[in-house]
Amino acid sequence: MADLRDLYQEVILEHSKAPRNYRELKGADHRAEGFNPLCGDRLTVYVQMQGDLIRDITFQGSGCAISRASASMMTQSLKGKTTDQARTLFEDFRQTVTGQTTGNGNPVDLGKLAVFSGVSQFPTRVKCATLAWHTLQAALEGKQESVSTE
Ligand code: ZN
Repeated sequence: MADLRDLYQEVILEHSKAPRNYRELKGADHRAEGFNPLCGDRLTVYVQMQGDLIRDITFQGSGCAISRASASMMTQSLKGKTTDQARTLFEDFRQTVTGQTTGNGNPVDLGKLAVFSGVSQFPTRVKCATLAWHTLQAALEGKQESVSTE
């Protein structure tokens, strides 16, 4: 069993205490709600698009430290990115938190989001870490129903 300190990195704790972009986005043209019944995490992701560009992205909700920190850092990472870049980053992030590597055997380069690699040691927390991303995907696809990780 991995040490819990591997999971709760300082930067994760810091983001969970003071999440960035934590507000309702008034001019949002996409939004979705996500729910992780395993843990009770629930959040709403708001996106304002400009063409193919994520002009602004925010979230609100309640949940555990991992889900909040993940949502917070996701909004930071994706502001100003295209939807294609967001999709690629989500795929890399998902591989990292599930402990997969890229085809050449090297861990993917996620920048700051790499702090979530410890989550791969805690399978029940993977859904906490990916909830915001799944919710964002639903928002971008324009689905109005809420998503669940189950
Ligand atoms: Zn959680």
